[in-house]
Amino acid sequence: MTRPLLNRRLAEFGTTIFAEMSALATRTGAINLGQGFPDTDGPEEIREAAVRALRDGRGNQYPPGPGVPELRTAVAEHQLKRYGLAYDPDTEVLVTAGATEAIAASLLALLEPGDEVVALEPYYDSYAACIAMAGGTRVPVTLRPHEGRYVLDLDELRAAVTDRTRLILLNTPHNPTGTVLTRAELTAVAELAIERDLLVVTDEVYEHLVFDDASHLPIASLPGMRERTVTIGSAGKTFSFTGWKVGWATGTPELIAAVRSAKQYLTYVSAGPFQYAVAEALRLPDTYFTGLRDDLQRKRDLLGDGLRAAGFTVYQPQGTYFITTDITPLGEKDAYAFCRTLPERCGVVAIPNSVFYDDPDAGRTQVRFAFCKRDDVLAEATSRLGRLAS
Ligand SMILES: *Cc1c(COP(=O)(O)O)cnc(C)c1O
Repeated sequence: MTRPLLNRRLAEFGTTIFAEMSALATRTGAINLGQGFPDTDGPEEIREAAVRALRDGRGNQYPPGPGVPELRTAVAEHQLKRYGLAYDPDTEVLVTAGATEAIAASLLALLEPGDEVVALEPYYDSYAACIAMAGGTRVPVTLRPHEGRYVLDLDELRAAVTDRTRLILLNTPHNPTGTVLTRAELTAVAELAIERDLLVVTDEVYEHLVFDDASHLPIASLPGMRERTVTIGSAGKTFSFTGWKVGWATGTPELIAAVRSAKQYLTYVSAGPFQYAVAEALRLPDTYFTGLRDDLQRKRDLLGDGLRAAGFTVYQPQGTYFITTDITPLGEKDAYAFCRTLPERCGVVAIPNSVFYDDPDAGRTQVRFAFCKRDDVLAEATSRLGRLAS
């Protein structure tokens, strides 16, 4: 057989960097600050809620296609309470197999082959693959460091939109840079979307992980945006249950019906008993959400201080549980080469941001570390990274 097995749409993607670097961590016994999963589980009472649902026989058989009513209602309540966004749980909320499926289903449903998608770069790796699977073309707009923070250049964004643009794929708080888009930036994106009649798909899985005086604003809450926006959320990051894969999309009945058309042929349904538990999690008291934020902000500072002491340039994240650094001050020139040898040099695994760019030169010297780890793990990691400074 001369024809390659993997089709042309996917050939460029290979194995995700997370699989490669996590395998490296396992092989070398290094501390894994690569993949972004917490090393402690979420709230005990939510785990117990999942056990109860399982024992009581709730969700052990196919749950309803759009998700169990309890969870759809809890998602709608959450959007209303936090952001003043009112959604009908029956027609405007769709439960998915994590945010990953919500992203895939949105793109598969809303794109025609040849449509262009404007996406922030560096981008979460599933975006590029899903745009390709949908037959679309990605048009990256690069976030660039400015005064210690990655910022969106609104002129570049405007210039990226053509007559073939169908949608803008947003992500705020933004992985991997930690940027939280401001009201002014989101207002400009909204004005552009309205002027050019574009859809917006917005990945807000880090909505509760915002620090200092930053605050998360869903673009759907801006005037004229509710009717053209699919907003995506997930329990994984907010409740530290990334293995449960419970996510959701909210939007108008027309948008959600379209996304559901694709979703029903991907997983159809998933995570039955966990859906009931996540419904309870979304109703946890505010102290849970502020506690999570305060705890992660402290961890951010712990790792950030260690990275600065080790000689990295640190871009202070306003959100997410990642820190992007620059390795130039360490005399390093290539993030990928640096990350491949880091386990042997000091027993730590990180992710080269270059893989999140179309133009690898744009992220050539940037490396991402996750800080959603136990304090003792972060302390040990920073002590090991300190060897780089000497
Ligand atoms: C982790 C992550 C996801 C995936 O969410 P799941 O609910 O686990 O599918 C989606 N988008 C971004 C930006 C992420 O970091």
